[in-house]
Amino acid sequence: MQSLDDLLAEGVRGRRVLVRTDLNVPLDKQTGAITDDGRIRASLPTLEALRDAGARIAVAAHLGRPKGAPDPQYSLAPVAARLGELLGREVPLAADVAGEDAATRAAALGDGDVLLLENVRFEAAETAKDDATRGELADRLAALADVYVDDAFGAVHRKHASVYDVAQRLPHYAGRLVARELDVLTRLTTDPDRPYVVVLGGSKVSDKLAVIEALLPKVDRLLVGGGMCFTFLAAQGAEVGGSLLETDQVDTCRRLLAEAGDRIVLPVDVVCAADLTADAETTVVPADAIPADLKGLDVGPRTVEAFGRELGGARTVFWNGPMGVFELAPFQDGTRGVARAVAAVDGLSVVGGGDSAAAVRQLGLDEDAYGHISTGGGASLEYLEGRQLPGLAVLAD
Ligand code: ADP
Ligand code: MG
Repeated sequence: MQSLDDLLAEGVRGRRVLVRTDLNVPLDKQTGAITDDGRIRASLPTLEALRDAGARIAVAAHLGRPKGAPDPQYSLAPVAARLGELLGREVPLAADVAGEDAATRAAALGDGDVLLLENVRFEAAETAKDDATRGELADRLAALADVYVDDAFGAVHRKHASVYDVAQRLPHYAGRLVARELDVLTRLTTDPDRPYVVVLGGSKVSDKLAVIEALLPKVDRLLVGGGMCFTFLAAQGAEVGGSLLETDQVDTCRRLLAEAGDRIVLPVDVVCAADLTADAETTVVPADAIPADLKGLDVGPRTVEAFGRELGGARTVFWNGPMGVFELAPFQDGTRGVARAVAAVDGLSVVGGGDSAAAVRQLGLDEDAYGHISTGGGASLEYLEGRQLPGLAVLAD
């Protein structure tokens, strides 16, 4: 796999470089303002290096899930503005992805200029199943540049035109973020320092079963919180009240507990409320006795302590998925407590997952206290599952 340094060593002054980045930031539903610019900031090392070396840069990115057609709600306009502020130079936004406006603007770029293409998912071809449809868009994207740099780690698990097909059409390189993510994931899967502790949370156990199956044989402890813990608790025969429960996964959780119950650590107490509101009245109950009229919405203080003890002795930690509904103040403490314990780890600590990374920032924790905060939730999970990721495979070719 060729790196950005390989490209810089070739020399890029005056060359046209198409950079696929992950700028899929959360927006405030009311105002449309960016609520967390972490991914934009994570794209800077590659873009700054190319800019400083005099490349003529066209950036391709997606935002949200528009339905394959232009939709102002998903325009990259706010992202172009923020990227411009961070780069200290104006970043114009093309009116289309790889149409007339993009082509005209890309042709007019000067050395060190940065152009942002409009949301690649405004083209239905971006995510099309069939190769020829994606290929037609990839041809137009490839025509904008001489070389391709993939820095969109959060999208490398997608066989999309701007991630996969375009890399087949141009000399291709891995950007700094992709290289860094790969380095960290390799350390998590190849001979990690022990004890190796994985903390999983988030909403759905079905999203994470594959990674649990893949990691269980490798870890010393798997700590389970978030909405997914209730399916495990139910598998142990606990009453989970109105908490999230995936009844079709109970048998699988029961099998995992039978196979590796000594390594799986479940919550001992749970913060409950009748409703999911910012001013909800909460009660803490034992994890095996949640009243029928209440929902478990965060792990309790004794659980945070127990998880903290496990994390305190760890040398390698991977954390994915908030411990509770951290978006609302009454259900933040579990995530904050675990986030602090992960930050204090003496060794490699990795946070994966969009919501987990957002939680770290939203709860005011110091990002620099972590070994690495991954920008790609789905991509890092699929990598840890041992799956081949199309966007990485094509870069290695
Ligand atoms: P990540 O993006 O870090 O991989 P997920 O997307 O899997 O994380 O899950 C994040 C979501 O899980 C958050 O929106 C959070 O509110 C939700 N969540 C966490 N705990 C619970 C719970 N007990 N009940 C319902 N939802 C929960
Ligand atoms: Mg998420």
